[in-house]
Amino acid sequence: MTASENKIYLPESQLPRNWYNMVAELPFDVPRPLHPVEDRRVEIEDYDWLWPLECLRIELQEGRYRTDPWIEIPEFIADVYRRYRPSPLVRARSLERHLGTPAEIYYKREDLNPAGSHKFNTALVQAYYAAREENSETHSMVTDTGAGQWGAALAMACETLGLGCDVFMIRKSYEEKPYRRYLMGMAGADVYSSPSRLTKTGREILKDDPENSGSLGIGMSEAIEFVKEDRGRRLALGCMSYYAVLHQSIIGLETKLQLEQIDRSPSLMIGCVGGGSNFTGFIAPFVPEKVGGSPIEFRAIEPESIPTLSRGEYRYDWADFSELTPRILMYTLGHRFVPPPVHSGGLRYHGKTPVLSALVKNDVVGTRTFGQSEVFDAGRLFLKTEGVLAAPESAHAVLGAIDAAKDASRTGQKQVIVFCLSGHGYLDLQGFSDVLDLDSSD
Ligand SMILES: *Cc1c(COP(=O)(O)O)cnc(C)c1O
Repeated sequence: MTASENKIYLPESQLPRNWYNMVAELPFDVPRPLHPVEDRRVEIEDYDWLWPLECLRIELQEGRYRTDPWIEIPEFIADVYRRYRPSPLVRARSLERHLGTPAEIYYKREDLNPAGSHKFNTALVQAYYAAREENSETHSMVTDTGAGQWGAALAMACETLGLGCDVFMIRKSYEEKPYRRYLMGMAGADVYSSPSRLTKTGREILKDDPENSGSLGIGMSEAIEFVKEDRGRRLALGCMSYYAVLHQSIIGLETKLQLEQIDRSPSLMIGCVGGGSNFTGFIAPFVPEKVGGSPIEFRAIEPESIPTLSRGEYRYDWADFSELTPRILMYTLGHRFVPPPVHSGGLRYHGKTPVLSALVKNDVVGTRTFGQSEVFDAGRLFLKTEGVLAAPESAHAVLGAIDAAKDASRTGQKQVIVFCLSGHGYLDLQGFSDVLDLDSSD
């Protein structure tokens, strides 16, 4: 393969056999979670009713997850990955020409799987752990979802593993963005509008505020309560966990092989951050060179209105509204933060995964924020030039790349910019229409 081609493919035989476990090689510690109320570290036994055990072992950095940089991908997972992986790395030549930039721009496509985003990469593994664990009694996975990306990914994963799937979907999206709800329904999931009457958390919120439009924090509290009621249920989480980051390292590992094939090394890697999983998995295998002194730059993009990494506090906080989850050391806007109603549902988290937070704190990763309308304009430009409709979340990364390419034009630098296209926007057209005002008559 040569650098003159647009799409850089890897053969299925080169699908990575291991995930990259970054924390085993970082020169600084990523602190482990603390008990929600007691002044001590979390132990497996505290949460073995809630999470699949393997997820807990990863999250608490137990045993090999503290020491081994490479974690073998189970054969079952590799088989399902091969349905849509390795995903192509694409050179954005039309976008480059449009911008007149000396930079090369590449994007890694994570929109080409059944759920339409990177989230399926980890949803599948979480369902697999839950279903295949020794003495597993698990019959269903429970979760919360905003715009529905995570719920859709989990619904399809559960379908693949023969598990049921219960999804608490924040009310505003449940009512206004029904298409992913339909997708979840087609995959066999049960979807509830959150706050719901199924849990105490939901009932109490609705008593005080019957019109409450819901939030991811509330949805997560409901999901946790729902799991507690039945030993056969387990929680699945998309974004804030380290196990999601570990599984998403498949994105970066493929990207690394693809860039090596065309003899390029990235000068700047960009991604959007909600909980931080796609971006952190994308950069993971490149982090050791950065830490070792290579000039490669990493840039995490967040919405101006949810500036967790850029302006949040670095401290212990809960991942959910009701303080049921462990406390984790991260950048946070506070677990009671109610995000503004932006159209990038997947970026509406109050915190960022501890490993990404530690990378920012240690100056390995830089950050930038953009406003909603410029992001959606970037999404439109990407569709016009590259013919790909990015998810609103991913459009943040598109704008990050455009912004960096413009910098390169000013300085004349021959940069290699690589970004992660975390998902497609075909079920987000209502948001595009609202922001870009597509519905106004002539
Ligand atoms: C959920 C989501 C995100 C944000 O989640 P991360 O954990 O930060 O990756 C980004 N893009 C898309 C398309 C999403 O669905």
